[in-house]
Amino acid sequence: MSAGKTCCGQACETRFCPHCGKEVGGVGGLLALVDYLRQMQAKNEGWAKTSAEQAEGMKNTYPNRPARRAESQMKRSRKWGGWADALEALLKRSEGQP
Ligand SMILES: [Zn+2]
Repeated sequence: MSAGKTCCGQACETRFCPHCGKEVGGVGGLLALVDYLRQMQAKNEGWAKTSAEQAEGMKNTYPNRPARRAESQMKRSRKWGGWADALEALLKRSEGQP
């Protein structure tokens, strides 16, 4: 569960970093949620790219439909990314507060 957590450039298996005293992995482990949001952002972006490529290949058969799908997937990707940005900014602001 704690695999891959680092702080101060070192792997850290405890909840609070012994070097700087910060909670490792962000407030309440919410950095893991940021990671998840970024994954969803990347996934939707990948789907959008695939859809755009498909739209290019089927341009003559379906002039609008696949392009619209790529658009909505891109929209979703930006939404996930926006949440990730907002949460990350919030966590950064709360860093250093008691
Ligand atoms: Zn640290």
